[in-house]
Amino acid sequence: MEVLGEHSRPKALLEVQDLAVSYGGISALRGISLTVGEGEIVSLVGANGAGKSSTLRAISGMLRVARGKIRFAGKDTTDWPSHRLVPLGLVHAPEGRGIFLNMSVRENLELGAYLRRDAREIQADQQYCFDLFPVLSQRISQPAGTLSGGEQQMLAISRALMSRPKLLLLDEPSLGLAPQVIERIFETIAEVNKRGVSVLLVEQNAQLALSAAHYAYVLETGELAMAGGGADLLAHPAVKRAYLGE
Ligand code: ATP
Repeated sequence: MEVLGEHSRPKALLEVQDLAVSYGGISALRGISLTVGEGEIVSLVGANGAGKSSTLRAISGMLRVARGKIRFAGKDTTDWPSHRLVPLGLVHAPEGRGIFLNMSVRENLELGAYLRRDAREIQADQQYCFDLFPVLSQRISQPAGTLSGGEQQMLAISRALMSRPKLLLLDEPSLGLAPQVIERIFETIAEVNKRGVSVLLVEQNAQLALSAAHYAYVLETGELAMAGGGADLLAHPAVKRAYLGE
């Protein structure tokens, strides 16, 4: 892997070492190592099928690891199921959004907080989500399936926030959305990060993902090809050629 520039990075919250994943006999990840530091936004960019979603799914316990180690918040969490990772502060907003379409906005938010018992704080966090995305408060009783694509993405992020994550895994939050909505979603990611939530972001839109990132990795067919600061990668000729259409 080519590493660009010198970067002093914060203490690691998530460490992935030599992670390999396969589907049946087909290997999707062939030994990747990456870290997300406390308070960082880290992006993982790459073409269709490079293994971005598989990386997030292995980290969040949705997919079994074939080889390698995952450490989160000082614990070896390799192959932990999602329901053990959520209370530890690791939450995944998956591709396709992972919300329940026949449940209301309120019920989806409540599900996000299902492991918590602090009713007053839950109420405050719900209000925080409505401050981030006011449209959700106007749709509170509506089934999630009747929301627009952008509103569903807002709900998916809000639902994840309701479990008070330390690390938020976001898979393709820009997928299928209009430019203004994408802008709103990315402003919110930055805002949530300022409040102390670390983010591991997977995006096919490399321009967007690298602009938002403190640090980033480029994944090519199951292996990491490059790493560096978001701005360094944006300026790199090979990245421009392969991922920015220049
Ligand atoms: P995209 O941006 O298109 O979602 P990605 O970078 O997220 O791509 P993955 O979805 O992780 O890539 O897929 C990596 C590889 O694993 C691809 O070759 C894909 O076809 C394969 N793959 C993913 N999920 C499965 C599955 N459930 N069964 C079999 N193969 C799979």
